[in-house]
Amino acid sequence: MNYAMGIDIGGTKTALGLVSNDGQMLSKASLTTDLSIPPSDMVDKIAEAANRLLADQGLQQADLQGIGIGAPGPLNTKLGQIAEPPNLRSWWSFPVVQEFKRHFEVPIVLENDATAAALAEKWLGAAKAADHFVYITISTGIGAGIYSHGRLITGATGNAGDIGHMAIDASGPVCSCGQRGCFEYVASGTAIAREASYLLGRPVTSKEVFELALAGGDPAMEALVNRVFGYIGTGCVTMINTFDPELLVIGGGVSQIGAPLFDAVRNYVGRYALNPSGRSTRIVPAALQQDAGLIGAAALIHTQY
Ligand code: ADP
Ligand code: ZN
Repeated sequence: MNYAMGIDIGGTKTALGLVSNDGQMLSKASLTTDLSIPPSDMVDKIAEAANRLLADQGLQQADLQGIGIGAPGPLNTKLGQIAEPPNLRSWWSFPVVQEFKRHFEVPIVLENDATAAALAEKWLGAAKAADHFVYITISTGIGAGIYSHGRLITGATGNAGDIGHMAIDASGPVCSCGQRGCFEYVASGTAIAREASYLLGRPVTSKEVFELALAGGDPAMEALVNRVFGYIGTGCVTMINTFDPELLVIGGGVSQIGAPLFDAVRNYVGRYALNPSGRSTRIVPAALQQDAGLIGAAALIHTQY
């Protein structure tokens, strides 16, 4: 048996977990990502928590095969750096791998969080048997991990799959990146809540929007949800046309609504994917919801990708 430490750095919290090479989560912890302190101080806190997890299991750093870090993009995995993630501003250009090396001598690997989650679905989740699949997360933002010919497609700097900024409605609203109608600016949980709050004149969550739309009797919310389903369908068709996957795995908070989303997306793909086999691409929910980030980060050490 050997062990990896998975670390999932997010804009609000950082989760870490000790994972064995058979995929068992032995223990885990969560810290608030404190953006008011220097990131190197945050690394000290994470390292301290990691050492505690090891000690609790009677293990030492030497028992670790390595440390896998999942972090939001844009990043630069070649340099081991965070680049410019909008929700991690104080970490821009931060050499995260080098900073963790102040505390650990084991190998340390950095990948985009959606890429790591895709690897988790391949290792233990919904994509175990697939050699060609795309994992899409629809949450605060939208991202993808692409697995093709039995390999993870990471790109030159680890930013492959940043489909949240694929323009999907060229006449849509201006995204934080400057383009119009980016996928995540029109179809993420954040986008749904923003648009519905504007339409209803009061703050609403994306969960509430789906409840209102599915209950019937609110044409504005029904129209919004149908538009969002259409955008998600468009994004999926583009992935299918580009990568010819045998499987699409959809995860993230918004995917929790389940059947209405999956039915709508299957229907859209069944009509608009270009090639006949693409129209019947299997589209399934992610199997690992809560711990996908952690398991994926550990999978960076435990699997060949
Ligand atoms: P994160 O983006 O931090 O990884 P999540 O994957 O939980 O977190 O995604 C959060 C987003 O998903 C929020 O916009 C939230 O409103 C939305 N969300 C969470 N649960 C649901 C649900 N059951 N139905 C619809 N939207 C949801
Ligand atoms: Zn954008």
